[in-house]
Amino acid sequence: MRSAIKSKSKMYKRNFIAFLLLITILVPSTPARAQEGAGPIYIVQQGDSLYSIAARFGVSLDDLLAVNGIADPNTLAVGQQLIIPGLEGISGILDTKFINFGDSYRSLMRQTQVPDELFRKLNRVVSPSEFYVGANMIVPIQDQTQYSKRVSPATGESMLEFAVKNNTDVWSLTSINHLEGSWSGIPGDTLYVPGEDGGNNASGLPSAFISAEIRDLPIKQGGTGVISVTAQPGVSLGGVLVDHPLHFFPSQGGLQVALQGVHALLDPGVYPLRLDATLPDGSTQSYEQLVLIVSGNYPEDPLLYVDPATIDPASTEAELQQLIAITTPATPNRLWVGEFISPAIAYAESTYFTSRYGNRRTYIGQGTTVSVEGFHTGLDFGGGDGLPITAPAAGVVVFAGPWTVRGNATVIDHGWGVYSGFWHQSEIQVFVGQSVSLGDVIGLVGGTGRVTGAHLHWELWVNGIQVDPLDWLNQTYP
Ligand SMILES: [Zn+2]
Repeated sequence: MRSAIKSKSKMYKRNFIAFLLLITILVPSTPARAQEGAGPIYIVQQGDSLYSIAARFGVSLDDLLAVNGIADPNTLAVGQQLIIPGLEGISGILDTKFINFGDSYRSLMRQTQVPDELFRKLNRVVSPSEFYVGANMIVPIQDQTQYSKRVSPATGESMLEFAVKNNTDVWSLTSINHLEGSWSGIPGDTLYVPGEDGGNNASGLPSAFISAEIRDLPIKQGGTGVISVTAQPGVSLGGVLVDHPLHFFPSQGGLQVALQGVHALLDPGVYPLRLDATLPDGSTQSYEQLVLIVSGNYPEDPLLYVDPATIDPASTEAELQQLIAITTPATPNRLWVGEFISPAIAYAESTYFTSRYGNRRTYIGQGTTVSVEGFHTGLDFGGGDGLPITAPAAGVVVFAGPWTVRGNATVIDHGWGVYSGFWHQSEIQVFVGQSVSLGDVIGLVGGTGRVTGAHLHWELWVNGIQVDPLDWLNQTYP
């Protein structure tokens, strides 16, 4: 009996505490509740500030603070929900989406079920040319309904036939796809029907392509573009990014992958990406879309005064052309797996660099007015004279010998158009044709060639372009 009373009072206590907790939870939420219906919700992302959010949605900071009952603009947490005022007619959660290859304005409208005028209002899109790959668009998610199954009508197929075939009806099709009146679909066009997402994002692509995707959008100057395509059986792929022909190689899961470096000095802006498919019957299909290339935010190095001979094309050009010729072929076997490992790992912290990739450099010939604009084409690991250099990934040695500007140089082919170069060595310990594994010693650090002191310069070529090697130390390609 006593124990029963005791447990009853315990229960009462527990309920009372729960009641207090409930009040505590309810009270701060009251101001937000009062604002319900004031606008759609944006979920705060990494890197957002209240200022950037206000600017993005074209609302004043004061309005944003007021509607959300925020007193201190410096308190903002990732994942926090904010009401965005001034967007009449828009509700739900505002999500962001990077436009990927194959997304067209029309297909995105259908996929997200957002009426055209709302989309334009949210994103302030005025022209289809703003709809480039890498553009970050805001998409309101209206409800839980998913109309993401992608289907293409056949030639001569009527709306009714098409609807029946896809387990839906004419009225749903018309409404989901914003079709006007009777049938306005075109054979080869893409429509959505209620159902599970088939996992295909490349909704605007011609039929030879099943899907296409570009990783790590937007691509930066000095970055490596990874273009992954699934095509119909027997289709061979090609294409162009900016002005470089792409080389596709088979990867896991039926994917074909092309890697393409973007030049460090390419002006930020939009550039064409074109994919070409050659079908088994010899016919071809192409798809082209603009891709955003953003600044790598590379710093400017102090002016460099050098021996005029070192910047005279008469002495530098032949060696550069030889290096370009060596690093141009894209050999079909990918010899690396996973991330690259620093070639200076044997003696230096993997985060210790005396000069990074991409730094803008102006070389001035001492005693002359001759200057050359350029950028730092690799990573420099300072010091380490006489210490071992190791292969950052497996490959085959395709050059090993003395060069005037680069000193004792080694070039390793990792396959798929990816090459490593190691300059200024005191000693080369490999020969042309030799296969090397990750971590094998390939030579010793030195100060040969045109340098001011001993250091290792490592550079990485991806389909004819020097890219930031740090990306390859920090993440896996493809
Ligand atoms: Zn260097």
